[in-house]
Amino acid sequence: MKITVVGLWNSFPKNNEATSGYLLEKDGFSVLIDAGSGIAAHVQDYISIHDIHHIILTHYNHDHAADLEAFMLSRKLAGRFKHRNQRLNLYGPESGEPVRLMKRAKYSKFHSIKKNSTVEIGPFKFGFHRNVHPVETYAVRIVDDSGSTLVYTSDSSYNAGLVRFAFGADLLLTDCSFYEGFDARSEGHMNAGEAGLLAAKSDAGMTILTNLPHRGALEALLDSAKQHGKEDIQLAEAGMVINI
Ligand SMILES: [Zn+2]
Repeated sequence: MKITVVGLWNSFPKNNEATSGYLLEKDGFSVLIDAGSGIAAHVQDYISIHDIHHIILTHYNHDHAADLEAFMLSRKLAGRFKHRNQRLNLYGPESGEPVRLMKRAKYSKFHSIKKNSTVEIGPFKFGFHRNVHPVETYAVRIVDDSGSTLVYTSDSSYNAGLVRFAFGADLLLTDCSFYEGFDARSEGHMNAGEAGLLAAKSDAGMTILTNLPHRGALEALLDSAKQHGKEDIQLAEAGMVINI
């Protein structure tokens, strides 16, 4: 599968960039995971907005779901002008403000995800793990038809259940919202040391630190993460493409 980092910033988008959003592609199928602020604009660097038929939202915090309505309106307009008639499938937790809107929408369909849900879209199989975060949030494990595995933690505190869920992934995209030494647990996130520990304990093939903070020297995140024994760790960058 091909993974494109569309956006990676925690809380708010950096100038001309976006918060969380990752585009998966294989065999003509495309799935967008998360739609934070700036994603509706920036995903169009890689794909027509009208060719996105599946969006998985890990939770409804602004930096992961702010552009949801932009995608819904794009589909509504496409339908009105008869450019595209295919529904936009939206997958997300059952609890949260946008759920009522998604359930009512005429041009999209809402699919509820919960712990142990499975979703199949073309060559991709998705599994979900309930995170430790202030709102209902899921980590996602994606396996394609050749067995390649991506785990995206979304936002979560470090915990043993997440290690088990992430175990053996070819690529781990992990929350890294804070520098080492900061109490990320109280915020429902991981700091760089915890992200590196997750990479090591889950024996990830390759790790990308994402959901990155705005302040500080980001290279320090890498130094902290690598201290736990995994060397193949990189910082997310907008437009980064990884094939696994
Ligand atoms: Zn969050």
